[in-house]
Amino acid sequence: MKSQEIRAKFLAFFESKKHDIVPSAPMVLKDDPTLMFTNAGMVPFKEYFLGNGTPKNTRLTDSQKCLRVSGKHNDLEEVGKDTYHHTMFEMLGNWSFGDYFKKEAIDWAWELLTEVYNIDKNSLYVTIFEGDKADGLDRDQDAYDLWRNHISEDRILNGNKKDNFWEMGAQGPCGPCSEIHVDIRSEEEKAKVDGKSLVNQDHPLVIEVWNLVFMQFNRMADGSLEKLPAQHVDTGMGFERLCMVLQGVQSNYDTDVFTPLMREIETITSFKCGHKEETDVAVRVVADHLRAVAFSIADGQLPSSNTAGYVIRRILRRAIRYGYTFLNTKEPFIYKLVNTLVKQMGEAFPELKREKNLIVNVIREEEHSFLRTLDQGLILLDNMVAKTTGDIISGDKVFELYDTYGFPDDLTGLILSEQGLKYDKERFDVLLDEQKKRSRNASLVETGDWTVLIDDSEEEFIGYDTLEANVKITRYRKTESKKDGEVYQLVFNLTPFYPEGGGQVGDKGYLEVPNGEVVYIIDTKKENNLIIHLAKNLPRSTEGTFKAIVDEKQRFRTSANHTATHLLHQGLRKVLGTHVEQKGSMVHSRNLRFDFSHFSKVTSEELKAVENFVNARIRESLPLEEQRGIAYDQAIKEGAIALFGEKYGDAVRAIRFGKSMELCGGTHVQSTGDIWHFKITSEGAVASGIRRIEAITNDAAKEYFTSETEAYNKVKATLKNAQDPVKAITSLLDENAALKKQVEALIKEKAQSLSGDLEKEYEEINGVQFLAKKVDLDAGAIKDLAFKLGQNRNDVFLLFGTEQNGKALLSCYISKELVASKDLNAGQVVRELGKHIQGGGGGQPFFATAGGKNLAGIDAALEAAKSFLN
Ligand code: ATP
Ligand code: MG
Repeated sequence: MKSQEIRAKFLAFFESKKHDIVPSAPMVLKDDPTLMFTNAGMVPFKEYFLGNGTPKNTRLTDSQKCLRVSGKHNDLEEVGKDTYHHTMFEMLGNWSFGDYFKKEAIDWAWELLTEVYNIDKNSLYVTIFEGDKADGLDRDQDAYDLWRNHISEDRILNGNKKDNFWEMGAQGPCGPCSEIHVDIRSEEEKAKVDGKSLVNQDHPLVIEVWNLVFMQFNRMADGSLEKLPAQHVDTGMGFERLCMVLQGVQSNYDTDVFTPLMREIETITSFKCGHKEETDVAVRVVADHLRAVAFSIADGQLPSSNTAGYVIRRILRRAIRYGYTFLNTKEPFIYKLVNTLVKQMGEAFPELKREKNLIVNVIREEEHSFLRTLDQGLILLDNMVAKTTGDIISGDKVFELYDTYGFPDDLTGLILSEQGLKYDKERFDVLLDEQKKRSRNASLVETGDWTVLIDDSEEEFIGYDTLEANVKITRYRKTESKKDGEVYQLVFNLTPFYPEGGGQVGDKGYLEVPNGEVVYIIDTKKENNLIIHLAKNLPRSTEGTFKAIVDEKQRFRTSANHTATHLLHQGLRKVLGTHVEQKGSMVHSRNLRFDFSHFSKVTSEELKAVENFVNARIRESLPLEEQRGIAYDQAIKEGAIALFGEKYGDAVRAIRFGKSMELCGGTHVQSTGDIWHFKITSEGAVASGIRRIEAITNDAAKEYFTSETEAYNKVKATLKNAQDPVKAITSLLDENAALKKQVEALIKEKAQSLSGDLEKEYEEINGVQFLAKKVDLDAGAIKDLAFKLGQNRNDVFLLFGTEQNGKALLSCYISKELVASKDLNAGQVVRELGKHIQGGGGGQPFFATAGGKNLAGIDAALEAAKSFLN
């Protein structure tokens, strides 16, 4: 059975059991402060388990893209080494939100595996939760009894809290689970060792394929469990593992999900799998990581130097490094695999097809730059080796290489071992651990439990129409972190505050308490479908009605920037072409930032044209037209543009200024005329094929023009109010260049005349003409002087000292003949004498220089020079 068919059968089976099939949510999470990536099928449905929203059907089924590379679920270091863990994988799931529970979940799982997929019953084992004293939980007898209807007792195993009690994180929905394991060993092996003893023992051929989770508790901040208002089912089956079982192979990488990529890597690198373990691991790593990175880019998360982007960059670098070390790939090659991946997965995940060019370009560029880093790292490493005596490189040095240059320590180790060297791994690990602890502590947020004041499931956002409202606090909790200190999170029954999202910052403002007290709202965010208002303190009494007031100025400026962002998008498509697509945006009150796909620098004429386009729309005072709660499909049919990597619900808001219609939940001005003026402040590249424009509007544009004019007037005044300031500056620059030339010529002349005098000052020591002297010349002139003196004789030893721009400089020249015959070395001379001026330097054996900060040491250095000849 082909993988496509396996996936389709799963979805069709649950559709026949009255589930709605839903598409995978993005793998990259944009607006979730608790999580960077979807790491399990339940993530997109969190809000339903928490009771903060209602799904369109209480039964859903899907195949969800998951990524397990950070946080609670992190499989990164295992990937490639084993044959059944991936960074990115698909999780097939069926969901019950307060609908069916254990019975149907278990019966259907069994029916699907044994009757639809025809897996041999004698190769299956199941586990159930054995109970936990500390949590006061009994063994899951219900699950046991239900399994007994299908499978013999000796194939139902007890599992502990680690394997059989599923938790989303430190807090939140959780419950006992029941796993299904498959034994795919040969009959011979099965006869030798009982499969039962291998369940949950990390055996590559006795593996967990499906986990049925019965959500019924909520884990509180103090670790205690509370019953959820309703019981749910959350199941997750590893798609790639299922394919391995059904296709009769012994590794996920031998299924048709992976074989096209594996063959392509073998072709490109000329390495074949199946001969050497390290080659096999490397090929698996590359195939796996390519998928993770490509899907992330398609979802809008490019590799970058911060948080989620950095995680993606590290995955790609791990692949590059495995290729570099074990597949001998010194040139970019991973990007070449994108074609094969898109052919393979593009049908099921059309976002891959849509973003193919971007994926190729970004990966190629990242490969280029990391390979350069690796080359530079090799040079640095060579230097370290040269400076080290003995055969152990210090852990601090290797850590510096890792931390500052991104040079991986295992690669360092490998290269060193080839030269018979080692590094202090213990020390390195200590440093790495310290660094991890520092960043963990900085980002650690302790979150308390909600105090629920009013039971209210739907918190209405009314901020499109009003900036003020009388609200009640429905729940609140406290969080604490090193970075932000104590912060209270408040939820209202309704709110005018816009929560950060769609690139737009959250609203600020305040709560007015009837007794005159004021509570400032410092930010607004959305989490699990709740709009959360952040405050440094609580009102003295949390009950009663409060007047919630949004900071009008900040909101207005932000809205002007948001509308301008839409006009900018239109302008870019008009001026540069319709290949321009939004790849990210950030809308603040100060300015706006817009990233888009385009393959060359935007010229200043093009930028001018875009500015003109936007300002023309502003002058037309186009009114905001909006449709709220329109069906997503309907909006797309009417021509609305949906944005890259955004997660849209079934009902969306479509807005229109003039001709162009876009899906957008953000706030906008009532008329484009409110923007007043639009000004681009910068344009540049953020990644290969992605440009970034920053711009300002309204007050910021006014301030910009005022301060630019002021600066210009100051320049004019400094130029004594020249009629044409550009001409005045050009002639100043010309004059300056001419003067510089004259000065250089004069110094050269001075050196020339000096050389004749100096030759008279030679002192002969052991057959060498010696001279050590302080001179008033710059570095270039001293070099000329030394070389000139050296031309005339082949037995000179010269040391010059000088003060230059407040620094001490020593220059040493030794005739090449002396270098050979007397074993002298100018580099060594300046390194030693450099100590007197508290500096260092080097160069060649016949000419070297040293700089230092101690001017007073020059004389002592000149004095000491003689010692080299005695
Ligand atoms: P394992 O113990 O094998 O790591 P898990 O307990 O982490 O699995 P769950 O969190 O229960 O797995 O996820 C549900 C299913 O998803 C698993 O039964 C498995 O089939 C699949 N799965 C989990 N992690 C991975 C992974 N890294 N790569 C591929 N499939 C996975
Ligand atoms: Mg796991």
